[in-house]
Amino acid sequence: MSDESQELGITESKSHKPGEWYAEVVQKAGLADYAPMGGFIVTKPRGYALWESLQDALDGQFKETGVDNVYFPMFIPESYLEREKDIVEGFDPEVAWVTQGGHEELEERLAVRPTSESIIAPFMADWTRSHRDLPLRLNQWCSVVRWEATETKPFFRTKEFMWQEGHTAHASDEGAWEEVWTRLGQYEHVFEEHLAIPVLRGKKPDHDKFPGADTTTTVEALMPDGKSVQGATSHHLGQSFAEAFDITFADEDEEEQTAYTTSWGLSWRALGALIMTHSDDQGLVLPPTIAPTQVVIVPIWQADTQEKVLDYSEEIADELEAAGFRVELDDRDERNPGFKFNEHELNGIPLRLEIGPNEVDDEEVTLVHRPDNEDSVADREGIVDTVDEHLETIFDKLYEAAEENLEENVREAHSPENILGTIGKHGGYVKTPWCGDQACEEAIKEKIAAEIVMQPLEEQGGSTAGEVVEPDHDECGVCGEPADELAYFAKSY
Ligand SMILES: [Zn+2]
Repeated sequence: MSDESQELGITESKSHKPGEWYAEVVQKAGLADYAPMGGFIVTKPRGYALWESLQDALDGQFKETGVDNVYFPMFIPESYLEREKDIVEGFDPEVAWVTQGGHEELEERLAVRPTSESIIAPFMADWTRSHRDLPLRLNQWCSVVRWEATETKPFFRTKEFMWQEGHTAHASDEGAWEEVWTRLGQYEHVFEEHLAIPVLRGKKPDHDKFPGADTTTTVEALMPDGKSVQGATSHHLGQSFAEAFDITFADEDEEEQTAYTTSWGLSWRALGALIMTHSDDQGLVLPPTIAPTQVVIVPIWQADTQEKVLDYSEEIADELEAAGFRVELDDRDERNPGFKFNEHELNGIPLRLEIGPNEVDDEEVTLVHRPDNEDSVADREGIVDTVDEHLETIFDKLYEAAEENLEENVREAHSPENILGTIGKHGGYVKTPWCGDQACEEAIKEKIAAEIVMQPLEEQGGSTAGEVVEPDHDECGVCGEPADELAYFAKSY
């Protein structure tokens, strides 16, 4: 390996130093860079392309299910933020404030939105007159700021992050529940079908729900280092925001009623989970569904074979492009094939086609899978179908590996020693009966920094909250008191 390609490649190991490895993949694969202010990142073209792809996938589903996009100001007057008390208490330590505009001191401080319920809800109140105005479903793609003093981790922990936030109002509690489950289902779908990451669905324990919410539901993904990532959340807000902001409507009998609201969000943390789940010590690994370039063609030639190799490669590139694949033909003269292989591996292009004079003469192509380097030779004829099949196989390989990691890392424990020991040794999820007392979570959290990340629900969908799954044993795994809820403990990002 030349010095140049060493500098290009990843030097840290995913299994030994996951934190350093992750930071190196993000930077060297050209996804993001650190901004001059701590806690902020610059998203580079390849990183932003991933966000756009995720955005497209989700936005399409939202629009098919009655959601309209809007945009609200990034500033929220302090008096608006104060109207719903839980929001103030929940976000107060993390809010960034604007106190001055130009040379003028502002009469009222403006919060940089940590989330937008407090600015959107009063307008929802204005726009909701009659039951015929409901359901009202709004979504915005934007960034929010939460001033957390933690170490910057691109896409996982940044003071400003990109997300979407959906806000809806409904005439009935049942309507709001249907909304909550629809959105959670769409998040699950985008994680599984677009990011090739299986997730667990459930609710957050009450002490960890969104400020002001009745219930917070979540999809959780298990990373290879044994920590859980909260992938997206969907909140049933009950009537607390509707009451605080007067979201009322005249029902069919002209009686005034208070609406029920929901909010739901997915942030670019999903990209953090994507990078962490599939990538390896050679760099980024992407499922073909989200990869900006799905197929790279690397022609391999000598002076006397250059013309025929390039002609043949271009024809294949054109044919694949016409069929709708995202293709790059790497015909750079100044780089040798070995360098190109390393670079495309680092950048996570799922499928590589190698074309040399032998492939041209035999009317074939050599195909190499990024995740495991598996290679095979196929006929030139039928290349579109062949590439399609290979991309599907690559997706399946990634999904199956992530699914295996998840299935092997859900364990049971029935005593504090056992919970601590199991998470300490294996990471992953430990499921245990729980009495519902936050103190029992604290007892575990103090010792090992693991918390209850999720409680599975019997029925996930429909028009009710659903019941928390009952455990097989009826004693709390921490305190031994009677327990009728099942809880999943894990360390988390
Ligand atoms: Zn307990």
